[in-house]
Amino acid sequence: MPTYFLTGANRGIGLEFVRQLSSDPSNNIIAAVRSRRSELAALKAMAKSHRNVHLIECDVSSPDSIASLEFRVAEILSRTGENLNYLFNVAGINSSSSDTSLSVDPVSLQNHMNTNVLGPAKIVETLRQYLARGAVVMNLSSGLGSMTVATGVSKCCTYSISKAAQNMLTLHQARDLKRSHVIVIAMEPGWVKSDMGGKGAMVEPEISIEGMLDVVKGLKRDDSGKFYSFNGSQIPW
Ligand code: NDP
Repeated sequence: MPTYFLTGANRGIGLEFVRQLSSDPSNNIIAAVRSRRSELAALKAMAKSHRNVHLIECDVSSPDSIASLEFRVAEILSRTGENLNYLFNVAGINSSSSDTSLSVDPVSLQNHMNTNVLGPAKIVETLRQYLARGAVVMNLSSGLGSMTVATGVSKCCTYSISKAAQNMLTLHQARDLKRSHVIVIAMEPGWVKSDMGGKGAMVEPEISIEGMLDVVKGLKRDDSGKFYSFNGSQIPW
């Protein structure tokens, strides 16, 4: 029974992951949401009609919230006797669309670092004992976090800094989990139609998620520590 854990499951890219994965009853999905106060109607409807979807709360910007996740995840896994085969760090924020390196707001930078970097770090640290041999950790990144791709882009400076830091985290996680035979990659989902992607976005969530799932299912051990696009091509750091 392939078992998935993901954050940011209530809307956008995360919700589409849950929709696609839950349609296969052999999958087991642990879907983490920031709080019961988040926009949950669509996810709750999925959890109601699919017994393989388990909802849990986790604010990824809070190490305390992440620490309290462990017990609940362990309890869900104990029912199937399986470990996690896939861990997707999807939750993220970008509230910096108009800032540049000359107008970085300290509070905003801290918030982006807490959610986009510390969150994925602490989630993996907390759940690593439940990662199966050969499991895949996927950190949702962005071309804006690539030193090569983002050259010449001046907007979203704070978000870019946080995703660049997250990319470095991915490299370290890949190295630190190598001996446990866990594969860790960064993933660019495309410019996806979601609240974050906005109305002008080019890629339908269905296409992005189908592509990302194809990529993670085809990964080999040597692919750990790489940065991929949802279409399977590799992205330079
Ligand atoms: P959305 O803004 O549509 O959704 C963001 C998700 O993250 C929501 O579920 C939100 O929950 C959750 N989230 C934010 N902060 C926290 C937190 N502190 N704790 C728990 N959950 C939190 O974004 P997308 O779905 O488009 O993006 C998903 C990922 O993909 C992000 O990491 C983003 O950086 C990345 N990405 C997206 C692109 C795009 O074009 N859309 C392009 C490149 C990368 P809540 O409802 O509670 O706020």
